[in-house]
This record gives sequence, structure tokens and C-alpha cells, in this order.
Amino acid sequence: MSTQRRISGFVKWLRCKACDAEFPVFVFSGDTDMETQGLRSLTDYKTCALVIAESDNLNQLLEQIGHVNNWKEALFATSNREGSSAIGSSFIHFLNERRRPEVYYRCVVCNEPTATLAKEMPLTQFRSLGFKVHLDDSLILDADAPT
Ligand SMILES: [Zn+2]
Repeated sequence: MSTQRRISGFVKWLRCKACDAEFPVFVFSGDTDMETQGLRSLTDYKTCALVIAESDNLNQLLEQIGHVNNWKEALFATSNREGSSAIGSSFIHFLNERRRPEVYYRCVVCNEPTATLAKEMPLTQFRSLGFKVHLDDSLILDADAPT
């Protein structure tokens, strides 16, 4: 048995501009690429459940859970800050711009790169709302960082 790997992250709810679907994705946080390398997060858009796993264990875990075909990865598509409007605009506007860059993900329902952030929440809140999280046995989730 190898040692368990500590991970941290939070849940983003995305809304697709093309098909209007809303679904969660788990976003890993880490200071370096090393910390998030080899980690995958998938979404079941029918139940809004999440799978969090290391790449090597992903297929095995999905087979255990079942409904393999429902699981989709909302891959990062593009990041597009609309204009550089920070200069000459208000500080509040600048903060809002900084906090909300237009980041697009590939929709798990229609597969278009048109899903954007609707809201964020810690994983504990996500679970307390009744949504399932399937975590790879090789991973330990750090307590959700306070926001
Ligand atoms: Zn869509």
C-alpha cells in the first residue's frame, strides 16, 4: 500500500450557456502543479454526484460505482477576461473583474465549451445538501478551507 495523498479543493457549480444545464465540478487547489498532477474529477450530470480520483484508479472506481457512461469530465476550455478594463475604472469594478474572469468549461451535457461559473461552495456544504462524493481510497481530503 502506498501512502495516501492529501488533496484540497472546492465545488464549482457551472451553468451552460448553450443548453442551460447546471452541474457541479470539483476543482483541486494547490500551490504547485505537482500537488494536483494526476488528479481527476468527474460529474454525473443526472444526479450531480462527483468522483474524485487519481488517474490510475479512476476506471476501477467508476466500475465500482456503476453507471460508467454517466460520468463526464468538465474539462477546462478557455479563459477569457473581457478586455483589460481595470485601467481607469473603479476599484470595486476592478475587484469584481478580478474575482470573476470568464472561465469556460466543456459542458458535461452538450459538450460545448460554454459552461461558466454560477456559484462556488465548500465540499462540506455540497455534501450537506445531499449530493454524493465518491472519493478514491488513495486520497484524503483536507478539511475545506474557510472562505
Ligand atoms: Zn451544455
